[in-house]
Amino acid sequence: MKKHNFSAGPCILPQEVFQKSAEAILDFNGMGLSILEISHRSKDFIAVMDEARAIVKRLMNLNDDYEVLFLGGGASLQFAMVPFNLMKENGKAAYLDSGNWAANAIKEAKKLGAVDVIGSSKEENYSFIPKIEEVGAEYDYFHCTSNNTIYGTQIKDFPKANTLMVSDMSSDIFSRMIDYSKFDLIYAGAQKNMGPAGTTLVVVKKEILGKSGRVIPSYLDYAQHVAKESMFNTPPVFAVYASLLTLQWLENNGGIAAAEERNIAKAKLLYDEIDRNPLFECFCVPEDRSLMNVSFKITDESKKEAFDNAWKAAGINGLNGHRSLGGYRASLYNALPIESVQVLVDVMKSI
Ligand code: PMP
Repeated sequence: MKKHNFSAGPCILPQEVFQKSAEAILDFNGMGLSILEISHRSKDFIAVMDEARAIVKRLMNLNDDYEVLFLGGGASLQFAMVPFNLMKENGKAAYLDSGNWAANAIKEAKKLGAVDVIGSSKEENYSFIPKIEEVGAEYDYFHCTSNNTIYGTQIKDFPKANTLMVSDMSSDIFSRMIDYSKFDLIYAGAQKNMGPAGTTLVVVKKEILGKSGRVIPSYLDYAQHVAKESMFNTPPVFAVYASLLTLQWLENNGGIAAAEERNIAKAKLLYDEIDRNPLFECFCVPEDRSLMNVSFKITDESKKEAFDNAWKAAGINGLNGHRSLGGYRASLYNALPIESVQVLVDVMKSI
């Protein structure tokens, strides 16, 4: 029986994506060949890449000033690629330190140049989003993490940046209506709202490239990938195909606006129970709560075993909190049905 999968990533994808991916592994497009054995230069795969790139722009409502890339290396490689491409030789960048992943991005950027951390909630165990109204023009770019996967916080109002605006949207891309055109570069590991692990989405405004004055290793140079229409080298073929299927599912189900409505309803159901039930408590402040990752703890350790047994018996998977924080984390990504959240809430009520 299919589990209720609250895993933080890799995570639940639509069932039809699993079905169609499985079919394509056996016989892609009726070619008598698996998607795993055809050339990435074949007409059939080029069509996959072209459509995947186009659908991202449609969903995000972006014009042709932007290019869409599907790269390897995970979101972690972007921590290095961003400064390589955007930080000038003697320049400096502004970063918001709102969680572990943001801190990892800062660590990489510092290897290349000067970084000002213009807001941090580290001392308070990342329990809120540091509030910044405006970012100065003296920076080459501003980097923020739109959703903190571990701590369950999410930026609701992005600061006004008088410089390039860069965001790691790994754990909330395609989940809510925001003006994506406010950003100059967005990246996201596929393995939450977009597809399986193995590819990373990069959406970049073309005009910002080629200005850092640095010698950039070819693979790390966005301009190289743009010039080759995301085929600079062999792309992660299967991960791109499964991402395309997920994006098609999203588009056929009302796009981001409808996904946001579903996500708000799911998150409300769970947060209402946490607020009502004295046995549970969120890690973060209410105003910064994430719609995607609900990180919470149990207030009476003597009930922990009963709770753990109950959610496991109810067919729930992936509820353990991140190893750095403990407690529990329910990830409510786009493909998770509200029925699964109801099962979790019923378990919480029963303890
Ligand atoms: N950024 C965020 C917000 C994440 O949640 C993660 C991992 N889940 C990463 C970056 C790192 O991604 P990857 O494992 O693809 O390098």
